[in-house]
Amino acid sequence: MSARVAVVGSSNLDLVVTASRLPRPGETVLGEDFRTVPGGKGANQAVAAARAGAACDFVGAVGDDEFGTRMRASLVDAGVDVSGLRTAAGPSGVALIAVDRDAENFILVAPGANGTLTELDADDRATIAAADVLLLQLEVPLTAVLQAAHWARADGTTVVLNAAPAAALPTALLDLVDVLVVNEHEAAVVAEVASDDPPVLLDALLMLVPRVVLTLGARGAAYADRHGLRLAVPAPQIDAVDTTAAGDAFTGALAVSWAEHGATSEDTVTASLRWACAAGAACAQRPGASTALPDRPAIDALYDATYRGAQ
Ligand code: ADP
Repeated sequence: MSARVAVVGSSNLDLVVTASRLPRPGETVLGEDFRTVPGGKGANQAVAAARAGAACDFVGAVGDDEFGTRMRASLVDAGVDVSGLRTAAGPSGVALIAVDRDAENFILVAPGANGTLTELDADDRATIAAADVLLLQLEVPLTAVLQAAHWARADGTTVVLNAAPAAALPTALLDLVDVLVVNEHEAAVVAEVASDDPPVLLDALLMLVPRVVLTLGARGAAYADRHGLRLAVPAPQIDAVDTTAAGDAFTGALAVSWAEHGATSEDTVTASLRWACAAGAACAQRPGASTALPDRPAIDALYDATYRGAQ
């Protein structure tokens, strides 16, 4: 039976315009091409987990507009179960993204329907209880995140929190987290320390949660837990084309591997981190965001090519 991952989180439609340069305030710049891409960290990580081979349920909200229809369809296409996806009156979440030739961007997000996900219901609780791993981010109201984590803890489901976008977190939530996944910027904000030194960040975060995964871009990932285990996993060496959504690919794959193998030994944790790094790197090898999220064969191939024979 496949591992089960439940995601409670956001879905946005990304409206992306490329241009020779970004406009200044008050200025109009004639752009080049325009595309719409399903996004939002919650939906991206749900798609990442489904492509990585899990049975994945998504709990979230889209608006009653065409964007909502499009996002629902893209989740279904990826094999995500959307029984817990609400349609709220009003607009869907959107991200207005402008990208220039140097890949510099600006992003403006209107949360729309994501903001209506303030309460969860008994069906959501059953979905979370049936999952091996509950995967959370911070793009929907904190009340829903807290409720989901609380039920997961009560019903024996492992809570993986990707603390993105970066925010200082209430103790009430930190106390319910089993595995925290952060990049260096998020780590510094959550830990409330001014450092970019991985060991310092890991130490500070272990005061707050029992297990921490720190993503380090092309340098891979680091791990620490309260049992004293510390790991550094190098990333596959690849030609990065577009690292957008690499973090979502990493986190989705980590949740799947954790759901499949748990954290029973140093070997299983090492294998999960390596597999997640392979997923992040496979995503970075392709242009696009959610469209670049790798499937299981692609993750396995890069994993084997990179880590086979490694201790
Ligand atoms: P975020 O995008 O959330 O800041 P990272 O940049 O740390 O996250 O990327 C997440 C993961 O994706 C990394 O831990 C790594 O495994 C993989 N990754 C990202 N960029 C590269 C790269 N240039 N080369 C290889 N792997 C990468």
